[in-house]
Amino acid sequence: MHSHLMDEDTNTQASAPITQDVMTIPRKMPEGPINLVGLTRDALREVLIAHGAPQKQAKMRAGQIWQWIYQWGVRDFAEMTNLSKVYRAELAEAFVIAVPEVVSRQVSDDGTRKYLVRIAGGHEVEVVYIPETDRGTLCISSQVGCTLTCSFCHTGTQKLVRNLTAGEIIGQVMVARDDLNEWPERGTRTDGPRLLSNIVLMGMGEPLYNFDNVRDAMKIAMDPEGIQLSRRRITLSTSGVVPEIAKTAEEIGCLLAVSFHATTDEVRDKLVPINKKWNIAALLDTLREYPKVSNSERITFEYVMLKGVNDSDADARRLVRLIQGIPAKINLIPFNEWPGAPYERSDWARIEAFAEIVHNAGYASPIRRPRGEDIMAACGQLKSATERARKSKRAIEAEAKL
Ligand code: SAH
Ligand code: SF4
Repeated sequence: MHSHLMDEDTNTQASAPITQDVMTIPRKMPEGPINLVGLTRDALREVLIAHGAPQKQAKMRAGQIWQWIYQWGVRDFAEMTNLSKVYRAELAEAFVIAVPEVVSRQVSDDGTRKYLVRIAGGHEVEVVYIPETDRGTLCISSQVGCTLTCSFCHTGTQKLVRNLTAGEIIGQVMVARDDLNEWPERGTRTDGPRLLSNIVLMGMGEPLYNFDNVRDAMKIAMDPEGIQLSRRRITLSTSGVVPEIAKTAEEIGCLLAVSFHATTDEVRDKLVPINKKWNIAALLDTLREYPKVSNSERITFEYVMLKGVNDSDADARRLVRLIQGIPAKINLIPFNEWPGAPYERSDWARIEAFAEIVHNAGYASPIRRPRGEDIMAACGQLKSATERARKSKRAIEAEAKL
């Protein structure tokens, strides 16, 4: 275990337990106007009724407001010209259309954009936009920090955690569309290729520990009268919260990626500690069902390449044996080193040899190309630099010890 100390924190208490019990900010703040962003269609109709909309008209009004917000990116009720002026004024008194505030925006040499956005409570969350030739992917976060403590993940070292609201999750997509200037002209729909064509839930946090908010936000992203992304263009990455995986298939239906990262329980217990709760066998059982229930294609197995830890030929062969029968793609991720990290990235030749074995067994095995390195925009290991609360170096190393 190498690494030098960059932690001012001397707290040596044991790692946070695996828990779902994190604070969520209530949707309706006791005072002040209600934010409409993040409400489901039904919830939107209900708040309109609660604020005096006649039952009969509520559905239509909700549909109109919905289109303004999610189809055309409007933030001001005054611009909603198919509603009466009086009603627009009433709306403006009771409600707001609020998205996270963009604190900073960096653009990499390769076109990758990284946004730092501020949410309620002053927390900051990173959002990364990655343009490619045939798509543009937005990597969004579902929590501030993460209650899980994967030993190779920078986010896992962050102590402070709260769930993002559905509005804060879909709001990340909305601010990126603002920045890309990609709202269709009023009265028209988005057709043809898009700059922001895909979403991956691979930023900070474990999306399946914030299931309801993630589901509501993704429903908004997929709604045909709105952001209109196909469920096949949304990928949710989980560390393996087994009971929520079937629910993801049923209630969201998006593509699934799993942070697999190891081929024995002994190693996976260390790398992805949730494995102690749901081990490799339990995880694979659930994954075998996923494509049937969600009617989706392949599952992506994410596999971070850590030198001398999980990157041997034997690991590659075990991996293909384990996933036999599951339609899968194996995404090999060169480890992104961070200051104080207890691991090193596997050598390139090792990564290629591993990829070759997986490929020869009949699975696509792309090696993730680092993007936006000059602005430290690596999707999947985000942690806001401003977040001071950290675990101690000792706690990180204790968790990582093999
Ligand atoms: N919590 C979810 C989603 C966020 S992490 C999950 O764990 O799946 C997205 C991906 O980035 C995961 O596969 C995660 O294991 C990986 N990752 C985290 N830190 C990394 C690092 N330092 N280098 C490479 N990949 C990392
Ligand atoms: Fe959380 Fe995912 Fe990082 Fe693990 S890899 S600590 S689940 S964000």
